[in-house]
Amino acid sequence: LAKDRGRNQYQFFNSQMREEVKNRTEMEQALRQAINNHEFELYYQPISNCQQHKVIAAEALIRWQHPEKGLISPAEFIPLAEETGLIQPIGLWVLRQSCEQIIEWQQQGINDLSISVNVSSNQRLLGFDAKVAAEIMYSVGVDPSKIIFEITENMFLENSTEAITWLKEFKALGSKLAIDDFGTGYSSLSYLKQFPIDKLKIDQAFIRDLPDNQEDATLVNAIIAMSKSLGLELIAEGVETVEQLHYLHQLNCPNIQGFLFSKPVKAEQLPAVIQQIKAVFPQLLPSDYEI
Ligand code: C2E
Ligand code: MG
Ligand code: MG
Ligand code: MG
Repeated sequence: LAKDRGRNQYQFFNSQMREEVKNRTEMEQALRQAINNHEFELYYQPISNCQQHKVIAAEALIRWQHPEKGLISPAEFIPLAEETGLIQPIGLWVLRQSCEQIIEWQQQGINDLSISVNVSSNQRLLGFDAKVAAEIMYSVGVDPSKIIFEITENMFLENSTEAITWLKEFKALGSKLAIDDFGTGYSSLSYLKQFPIDKLKIDQAFIRDLPDNQEDATLVNAIIAMSKSLGLELIAEGVETVEQLHYLHQLNCPNIQGFLFSKPVKAEQLPAVIQQIKAVFPQLLPSDYEI
């Protein structure tokens, strides 16, 4: 009897595994076709500067409009895309699409907007580099200085000399480099002085419980002081409340990204959102307007 039960359990486990493999294979198959089927879309989330009181950049964030499953968030398919290497064609599509969008906005009179593009660390190993990026930017007609490449700390875990060379070539083009989700990685801080980084984006995990959480407040203070002395531009991610904005502004954190100002929106909505943010700054930071 025990043996029978054992075998049934084994078979159950087996069929569950088979189901998972089937789902994964189907998902991979669908992901493979998604570019050609025009199922990806970029949403854009504004990044606002508290000294200039305006939107200075927008982060491009991919969404997958799956024919049956509906809108799928990147957290659900980017890991699979990374595992299968599909992140390579997807990453190229994201950059080209972002460049085309910059041109479209320029034609509408929006000239001073940079676009932040996420780059997975294995895109480097799959052959994405400054030369490939330049080909796309120049063929669309976008000045590379308009593009910020967001990378994460795990880029610095190994092969650091190769990674430095790789990054320097993007800098040579005139593009900017930002460390995304700063503070969540496991790499040492020494990379900050070795690598040609322009910006740090404080991960939203440190912002979420501000200003009440004392540990988070201490860490954010330290990151702000460090970025200032290293000459790095700072962006706080995940800012949702006025209290968080005021706290960060008091500490002289210059740039803010988060639902307080806007969720990621479709490209055609961004110009209106930029206007709304400009209009709302005097109410959000009234002390700036007293003098
Ligand atoms: P990320 O690059 O750190 O992007 C910020 C994420 O935080 C976005 O999630 C954004 O919608 C969300 N967010 C922004 N403000 C707030 C806020 O105030 N509160 C909260 N709770 N969340 C906020 P999203 O769009 O789901 O993207 C998740 C991640 O997927 C991104 O994190 C990025 O790592 C990855 N990703 C997105 N697009 C791409 C892409 O084109 N290429 C690659 N390689 N990765 C991408
Ligand atoms: Mg990002
Ligand atoms: Mg982030
Ligand atoms: Mg992230």
